Amino acid sequence: MSWSAIDTHAHIYWEDYVEPVEDILARADEQDVKTILVPGTNLETSAKVVELVNRFPGKLFGAAGIHPSDVKDTDEETYLSEIKKIALKPGMVAIGEIGLDYYWDKSFIEKQKRFFHEQIKLAIQLNKPIIIHNRNSDDDLIDILNEYKGSGLTGVFHCFSGDRSFLEKALATGFYISLAGPLTFKNSKLKDLIPYLPLSRLLTETDSPFLSPHPMRGKRNEPAYVTYVVKYLAELYHVTEDDINRNVTFNTWKLFGIGEKPKPVTTYEIGQNLYVNLTNRCSADCVFCDRKENASIQGYNLKIDKEPSAEDILSQIPDPKKYHDIVFCGYGEPTIRLDVLKTVAAELKSKGASIRMNTNGHGNIINKRNILPELQGLVDKISISLNSLEEEDYNSVMRLPKGKGFYQGMIDFARDAKSFIPDVTMSVVAPIDADVSAYRNFAEKEVGVHFRHRPLDFL
Ligand code: SF4
Ligand SMILES: [Zn+2]
Repeated sequence: MSWSAIDTHAHIYWEDYVEPVEDILARADEQDVKTILVPGTNLETSAKVVELVNRFPGKLFGAAGIHPSDVKDTDEETYLSEIKKIALKPGMVAIGEIGLDYYWDKSFIEKQKRFFHEQIKLAIQLNKPIIIHNRNSDDDLIDILNEYKGSGLTGVFHCFSGDRSFLEKALATGFYISLAGPLTFKNSKLKDLIPYLPLSRLLTETDSPFLSPHPMRGKRNEPAYVTYVVKYLAELYHVTEDDINRNVTFNTWKLFGIGEKPKPVTTYEIGQNLYVNLTNRCSADCVFCDRKENASIQGYNLKIDKEPSAEDILSQIPDPKKYHDIVFCGYGEPTIRLDVLKTVAAELKSKGASIRMNTNGHGNIINKRNILPELQGLVDKISISLNSLEEEDYNSVMRLPKGKGFYQGMIDFARDAKSFIPDVTMSVVAPIDADVSAYRNFAEKEVGVHFRHRPLDFL
């Protein structure tokens, strides 16, 4: 399946567009840009957005808000009651763009802040996300957002620019980060941030008609050009454009509720591998796990209503040899369904596939026997999560009952696996620049297996 690109920020009512909107949308269509979010910047443009959204329902979605640069001459009381009316129209999915801009004119900062607060309150009241504009106002912006922690407020930093420390603060708010044309500019430092920006928090946009991406830089921007941003992101993340679009599709759905909620999958492709999602059940309940929330990985929805049978899985894999590895890995512990796992692995192996299993290492405790001899010849590689080097910490991170031997069981499983499985790895999920040397030492020297550091969001 291929995924369409999304432009989450385009002012296609701007005076730069002399041609009919139909032409802009036709060019977007040609590039398979199917969903466009159009934010307002004041009362007048927000009303224009409503008009556009009415004309192209399901393709265009809108946001109503007053841009910080438009705050100066706006009367606060009339504005707020009007913008609320506009925001309630069909297809209006967010409050935006709003925020702070200290670049152009610093003479009305307090008024900007008041408007920002009032529009945030409106967003909370209407249960809509906000689209944030920020220029030279990093600290005040984060301070204000932090005041609304716990209120359910969510949103996106549109056309993100900033350094690593600002990115961290922005991510800590729980908001999404939208990247636009400047990412593609020759001297842009934004690309250095990519290792720290999980795909699960990424959105794409053009900010049309401004800031055209390379190689269109200098020309008027339009939604079709979001594909240049996507292409560049795919290079930076070392994934396909489809991978980027799929992630953005799910993120856009989660944040704005637009587009289609991806259907749950029991097999899913990422890069050269095929992943098999057998269950959402698990022996653990890790504090960082998305299993009970969206259960999404790289834009796939892994939250299944019904666990698949071996036949279900096998019917989805007619050509197992085309994958580098077929990996049992989902939001759940695959050894809970050992029989299905074994049946599927045996069949795929007989067709020449390479089989990997990602596990929490609790398989023997779950099945009340040593399962490793049963996996011999069926599984080529095992990757075991090493979530901590301390039992107490392990139990607390994974919310496991004390005294049941899960920690030691996991280590014994890894140690023992070497006798039955050709390739055994212990892995740790941690930010890309985290110091994982103690984990590496433990895996390689004490347990005698391979070690892999998995940055967040990468399988
Ligand atoms: S072991 Fe894996 S699937 Fe289970 S709760 Fe932890 S992270 Fe989620
Ligand atoms: Zn904008």
